[in-house]
Amino acid sequence: MSIVFLNHAYLPAEEAKISPMDRGFLFGDSIYEVLPSYNGEIIGFNLHINRLNRNMSAIGIRLEWPHDEWMKVCKALLEKNGLGNLGIYLQVSRGTAPVRSHAYTKDIDPTVFAFSFEINPEQSASKSKVTPYKVATSLDLRWARCQIKSTALLGNVMHFQHGHQKGFNETLLYNDHNELTEGSTCNAYIVKNGVISTPSLDNHVLPGVTRHILLDLLRRNDSMQIEERVILMDEVFAADEVWVTSSSKEIIPVIEVDGKTIGNGEVGDVWLAAQKIYSIGKRGY
Ligand code: PLP
Repeated sequence: MSIVFLNHAYLPAEEAKISPMDRGFLFGDSIYEVLPSYNGEIIGFNLHINRLNRNMSAIGIRLEWPHDEWMKVCKALLEKNGLGNLGIYLQVSRGTAPVRSHAYTKDIDPTVFAFSFEINPEQSASKSKVTPYKVATSLDLRWARCQIKSTALLGNVMHFQHGHQKGFNETLLYNDHNELTEGSTCNAYIVKNGVISTPSLDNHVLPGVTRHILLDLLRRNDSMQIEERVILMDEVFAADEVWVTSSSKEIIPVIEVDGKTIGNGEVGDVWLAAQKIYSIGKRGY
């Protein structure tokens, strides 16, 4: 039975109750994070909590918990749920209001909910051990504030399901100008002639913590070439390698996009080099 955290209490998941008048439920008026942990060690803790705080400020939720307070919750969930490979989900909604109204007042107490869930083991930097993805594509029809990690994820859900129901692992998204934005649950990258490129951050891309750590580590390594720039979908199809990243996936190579083979259809050498660098370096964040 999993133990969850709800508004300062730890309790069995079945006993955790939130009012249907909670604005997270009624409006998706809510922010979340997912932190990966392996045997009790959390990757990118400060980066995740900084993003949580930034996003709460962006939508005007006031919950000023120091990092230590969040760390206590994360550690307690890991201890109560048995370490291993666990993702920690943190959610803060604006809270429960007496009436359903788009307008909110500032006196509502935020609802804080957290739980842990099993994630895949750490990615091995090994071509034979990684399971590469085959992905679909879709015009990005989400809202223009994708930099906010909101639980209002219906756009992402519909895009993910579009690929999933056709047997694909993910859906890569592109805008009206045929420019790659990201995946429905991850950031996206291409590799061409050894150069790793990823879309620049703007309001159509979530600033992924994995993206941040990966780019930082790659930039410290003289042998890797990185670009943040506009990427056209034609470049995706013509790439030598395509990858996606997220906290629970690390770096996943993509070998097929819309049924078209990427590069030679095999997991690439640049992925291998990048995953090696990430596997070693991620613990420093
Ligand atoms: N982009 C989207 C839409 C996501 O949902 C996620 C993760 O959930 C990411 C990117 C990757 O973010 P992170 O590396 O912080 O997990």
